Amino acid sequence: MQYRDIVCPFCGCLCDDIEITIKDGHVEDVKNACAISRSKFLNHHQNRITAPSINGKEDTLDNSIKRAVEILAKARRPLIYGLSSTECGAIGKAVEIAECTGGVLDNTSSVCHGPTILALQQVGESKTTLGEVMNRADLVIFWGSNPTEAHLRHIVRYSVMPKGKYVPEGRKDRKIVVVDVRETRTARMADKFIKIENNKDFELLQTLRALVRGENITAEEIAGVPMKEIKELAEEMKNARFGTVFFGLGLTQSDGRHMNIDAAVGLVSELNRKTKFVLTPMRGHYNVAGANTVTTWQTGYPYAVDFSMGYPRYNPGEFTAIDMLSAGEADAALIIASDPGSTFPKDAAKHLAQIPVITLDQKTTPTTMLSEVVIPVATAGIEAEGTAYRMDGVPLMLSKILEPPNGVVSDLEVLNRILSGLKEAKQ
Ligand code: SF4
Repeated sequence: MQYRDIVCPFCGCLCDDIEITIKDGHVEDVKNACAISRSKFLNHHQNRITAPSINGKEDTLDNSIKRAVEILAKARRPLIYGLSSTECGAIGKAVEIAECTGGVLDNTSSVCHGPTILALQQVGESKTTLGEVMNRADLVIFWGSNPTEAHLRHIVRYSVMPKGKYVPEGRKDRKIVVVDVRETRTARMADKFIKIENNKDFELLQTLRALVRGENITAEEIAGVPMKEIKELAEEMKNARFGTVFFGLGLTQSDGRHMNIDAAVGLVSELNRKTKFVLTPMRGHYNVAGANTVTTWQTGYPYAVDFSMGYPRYNPGEFTAIDMLSAGEADAALIIASDPGSTFPKDAAKHLAQIPVITLDQKTTPTTMLSEVVIPVATAGIEAEGTAYRMDGVPLMLSKILEPPNGVVSDLEVLNRILSGLKEAKQ
């Protein structure tokens, strides 16, 4: 059986032109995909967790859900975390579980583009879609982002190579600039590479903003970049017909954090007095934008939401997963489609190992290894359908092209059953 126009559920690009051949219940061939996507589709069935378990012993799905309900119903401050690698229906259900238990809900954006969200809430943003970039952008700036290694088809499909309505010659019609602390592979294919000193993004952004506004700056260099080079870039930005900045963790996780994004928004806003300029975060997990969107619909806030007072409260730094765990506050955790056991700092991971944890995942990870209850789930976008939001905020439909292993159900179904159990336990 052949499927066309399948959405790839592996990074924030959500490429929607993947062709898949299925034979004997397995993915036999994948076309149009990058190396990461191809490997994920072809190997998604390898090393799967085949049955639910409680304390390391295989058990039934019913018993595992029952134990998960007991843990969450008893907890005084449960943490519900992850969600960026599952579909929107499951995310919505996780929000309901957080509300029902009076717990704290957080998603992985708190450790990647959290500062982006904080800044955009304060100062707004000038947005666009990747389709518009493809058709119009003649100046593309990658700031602290490296798509040739993190978002492999971004360059060929959206931002650099494709021919568009107002850039008919594709790559020849675009100027590509990379601002980064080291010469990445993306920097090597760019027309211009600006090497910036570590943690000096804020200074460079504010200087560009002042130059675009027409201020006279006398310094000879800023952030390790000669003033002549900065002035040239400011001129190129002003002269672009449609410019765009794609920024990554190099900007959000360096010193300044949300103030860097604030400065980038200020620069783009200044540029919009003279031409058309936009900026877009390079979101990593394929549905981290969906996690923010669904959580905002249902609570008013994108992440770090606490329900202990019976209504949603928002406070990154207090209700974010790492802070909750490092402070020893959470007394139980429900982890969905994420592996904080291997990615969180030592104190947070250590506390996670000391409390009862329920994890929904396809494969064994350090987090499943420290969990009391492990429930295997279908892979969204391969074995379960749903919706995901691309890095530019465009929603796309994920397909089900294969049946999950025997007895394995979707995140949505498991979370729905946990929620029903919690509601019954409350009555
Ligand atoms: Fe999938 Fe991302 Fe590769 Fe596109 S770039 S095929 S979305 S992993």
